[in-house]
Amino acid sequence: MDATAPITQDVMTIPRKVETGLPNLVGMSREQMKAALIERGIAEKQTKMRISQIWAWLYHWGVRDFGEMTNLSKDFRAMLEENFVIALPEVVTRQVSDDGTRKYLIRIAGGHEVEVVYIPEKDRGTLCISSQVGCTLTCSFCHTGTQKLVRNLTAAEIIGQVMLARDDLGEWPVPGQPVEDGRLLSNVVLMGMGEPLYNFENVRDAMKIAMDPEGIQLSRRRITLSTSGVVPEIARTAEEIGCLLAISFHATTDEVRDKLVPINKKWNLEVLLQSLRDYPKVSNSERITFEYVMLHGVNDSDEDAHRLVKLIEGIPAKINLIPFNEWPGAPYTRSSNNRIRAFAEIIHNAGYASPIRKPRGEDIMAACGQLKSETERARKSRAQIEAETGGA
Ligand code: SAH
Ligand code: SF4
Repeated sequence: MDATAPITQDVMTIPRKVETGLPNLVGMSREQMKAALIERGIAEKQTKMRISQIWAWLYHWGVRDFGEMTNLSKDFRAMLEENFVIALPEVVTRQVSDDGTRKYLIRIAGGHEVEVVYIPEKDRGTLCISSQVGCTLTCSFCHTGTQKLVRNLTAAEIIGQVMLARDDLGEWPVPGQPVEDGRLLSNVVLMGMGEPLYNFENVRDAMKIAMDPEGIQLSRRRITLSTSGVVPEIARTAEEIGCLLAISFHATTDEVRDKLVPINKKWNLEVLLQSLRDYPKVSNSERITFEYVMLHGVNDSDEDAHRLVKLIEGIPAKINLIPFNEWPGAPYTRSSNNRIRAFAEIIHNAGYASPIRKPRGEDIMAACGQLKSETERARKSRAQIEAETGGA
């Protein structure tokens, strides 16, 4: 970490929403919204139009106040105000790295915190979102895996991450002004904290909102879900979400993968690869991304590269090589650049794209697998402070 990097850190003081107990419109599917409106006396035949209107205010215009929903009658707005809330997670801190990467620490109900990372690129920008607080799986190279699971995020908390990032990027359209070409937030990857396929329904509902043509309108080809290999849910992802898939592969033998990605003991390489071959949407334009973390002396030999190529034969694939991001106490070290390049070369020669992922936002601990430290550290220091003041 470069201590001289010009990190800016704002601590936002957004007032906490009073917990009203009213249902949140954010995160509801259209069907759920329909049921909620009918329950509050809206005639069924009116619901379609009403939902379209509310949807556009929430997800096209980014409006957070019922009073601004000007094409709704006063009475209807008053009914909404009385019965619902529009609630998003709270941004606690926002850090901007030297390279433009932004990391947000957000607080969700119950006081839990998760991290969201925005990575700007030349003509696009990717938001890396979290699906759980911590993770129940214990991949041995992953810092998040050392944190105890606290809970699954709700659909509102998942789509809320996209909405908060759009707020910060100033990317909601302004009425009367043309929508600009090219988006700052053009892609979403479910590669933050948590195993998205262990929170399937909420992830699915949130991604459906992200893809909805009357709202945020992200194409399903611009959403990538990364899984460690929850095989039964992989087919469901294809059927019920239809987004791109990335798989945390990381090893070429069951023996090594059992250690690195312990879920492999439940669904081994053979079973996993079969599910990927079956991924119904697989086509040349929809390759599966194989993520492969480069660990010195563990999974980075030429033999591994050759085995990898053989294993994935017949699957339209891209292999994303991730230089291991070290964290305090990590039991591995990063493969050398030469080793990574040699490994990439073998895969490339076999006809696969094999980009080496450039760590982004390292100065703010925003790189892959580093997403625990800041939170935990922040927590620790708060706990320490409490202990100190409590004991005084
Ligand atoms: N739980 C999901 C998604 C989150 S992890 C999954 O495992 O796929 C996103 C990616 O970062 C995964 O490929 C994960 O294996 C990788 N990763 C985790 N820790 C890492 C580290 N310390 N260095 C580099 N990559 C890491
Ligand atoms: Fe969980 Fe993914 Fe980390 Fe494994 S790599 S512990 S599945 S977040």
